Amino acid sequence: VHFEKHVVITVFGASGDLSKKKTFPALFGLFREGYLSPTTKIIGYARSKLSDEDLREKVRPFFKKPNGAEDDSKVEDFLSMISYISGPYDSEEGFLKLKEVIEKFESEKKVEAPQRLFYLALPPSTFIDVCSQLKKILYTESGHQRIIVEKPFGHDLDSATELQEKLAPLFSEEELYRIDHYLGKEMVKNLLLMRFGNTFLNAAWNKENIQSIQVIFKEPFGTEGRGGYFDSIGIIRDVMQNHLLQVLTLLTMERPVSFDPESVRDEKVKVLKAFAPIDFDDILIGQYGKSADGNKPGYLDDDTVKQDSKCVTFAAIGFKIANERWDGVPIVMRAGKALNEGKVEIRIQFKRVASGMFTDIPNNELVIRIQPNEAIYLKMNAKTPGLANENQTTELDLTYSERYKNYWIPEAYESLIRDALYGDHSNFVRDDELDVSWKLFTPLLNYLEGPDAPQPKSYEYGSRSPAGLSEFLAKHGYTFSEPGSYQWPVATPK
Ligand code: NAP
Ligand code: NAP
Repeated sequence: VHFEKHVVITVFGASGDLSKKKTFPALFGLFREGYLSPTTKIIGYARSKLSDEDLREKVRPFFKKPNGAEDDSKVEDFLSMISYISGPYDSEEGFLKLKEVIEKFESEKKVEAPQRLFYLALPPSTFIDVCSQLKKILYTESGHQRIIVEKPFGHDLDSATELQEKLAPLFSEEELYRIDHYLGKEMVKNLLLMRFGNTFLNAAWNKENIQSIQVIFKEPFGTEGRGGYFDSIGIIRDVMQNHLLQVLTLLTMERPVSFDPESVRDEKVKVLKAFAPIDFDDILIGQYGKSADGNKPGYLDDDTVKQDSKCVTFAAIGFKIANERWDGVPIVMRAGKALNEGKVEIRIQFKRVASGMFTDIPNNELVIRIQPNEAIYLKMNAKTPGLANENQTTELDLTYSERYKNYWIPEAYESLIRDALYGDHSNFVRDDELDVSWKLFTPLLNYLEGPDAPQPKSYEYGSRSPAGLSEFLAKHGYTFSEPGSYQWPVATPK
């Protein structure tokens, strides 16, 4: 394995939730798998008064050992690479300390071209302060710096534009890495290869063959005490404008000339610009109430939420892409909390075959399950084995846990941090992409949060959706085959 030596990684907001649950465990995962050099220096930075040891003990419980093995030596080796600096975000003092520590390390190691990665695991209100100090105090001309920024990138088009206008003079697009962690998920990274590396799929990927497209996010729990945070966000900002739109973009974009990051991102922006504005009449919105047995609370039962809140916890949105490939193909993005199950998947339903020799044969369906238990399966028709000439819907199946038993499938954050260490922007969100995505969603958000906001339909905690989803999907071209018409023989691992 090739890796860069003597990189310095600084994690801002190191005392926080994201850093202990995702950032440090991802850095450890890369180290454990041999993708992060032992010569790397890792510095946690936050205002909290912590010792180096405090930080190590805070993050340690979140590390995953390889296949549950007891291998503490790697944990200890990794933890010894971490130190901590306490300082403010909005004034020089802490940054001067940081500079001293980083420069001492780089000079000891005789580093000529510093390689500095700054990870902002911080609320967005601090981004500009931190970036201003970094620019003033820690900018290197001889080497490079890369800044990883976490979502949310704004709350709507105006705030996103403002944030971007303030960031742009400080760091170039080349230096900025906006994380959307869905882009680091194995199945999402697989989309381009799968689409463009298979003639049969590529040939069928158009309005002539596809009847409907769905991108689906289902979560089996509600806000569980974090309603106050969620109330100003809602499900659309939480997962649709960012994660699901990224998935939809990769699913519908044209073939880039190469895997080169800018080629990929150019195509993403191009297809996003071809999306028709969202039609406010082409949505189904909901908010969960109590579960049928009364044991699970409704959204409004949370004390931190306004009693008349119209916050959307479920949404199904119809999309249209007005280009040559997709014109007329109904696309539905749907996402909800407190539903009957947890999964994220893409469901592509193909058109019916010509009738004549067939009277009633189900449509082919390609399902790409992003999580849990990554899988790709194609529901296809075949003769029932035996003497009769009857159809049975069966599947071509690629279940990752079966097919790739001895592979390490990196966590999204592991994959993305590794990309950033190598300067690969492919799986990060570019400024113009962000701009188009906010342009697409902001009118809908304004409508749903404005004075004439419609009342979301109530649905039971633990149910499949608010009433009306099946009709909504049927209207968008999805043909539901009655239960029993297809059976999956294997017990799906939970
Ligand atoms: P957090 O725990 O609230 O904040 C991280 C650290 O930032 C805190 O430990 C605190 O450190 C400092 N901080 C918090 N509020 C601040 C404020 N108002 N002013 C200045 N400093 C403040 O947040 P997080 O959950 O780690 O998330 C960090 C970023 O990642 C956010 O932008 C969030 O939206 C995003 N994100 C989080 C998750 C997740 O799973 N948690 C997932 C995706 C994206 P000190 O007080 O010690 O300085
Ligand atoms: P399914 O669970 O039978 O659902 C098919 C689709 O129909 C889903 O999008 C579902 O929506 C929707 N639906 C459910 N009830 C509906 C209704 N009343 N009206 C309209 N639409 C409705 O999925 P499947 O793809 O046919 O697979 C069947 C089972 O086999 C699943 O449990 C699947 O995980 C399993 N399987 C697993 C693998 C694998 O792991 N490799 C391979 C093949 C199949 P919702 O998603 O909202 O329920």
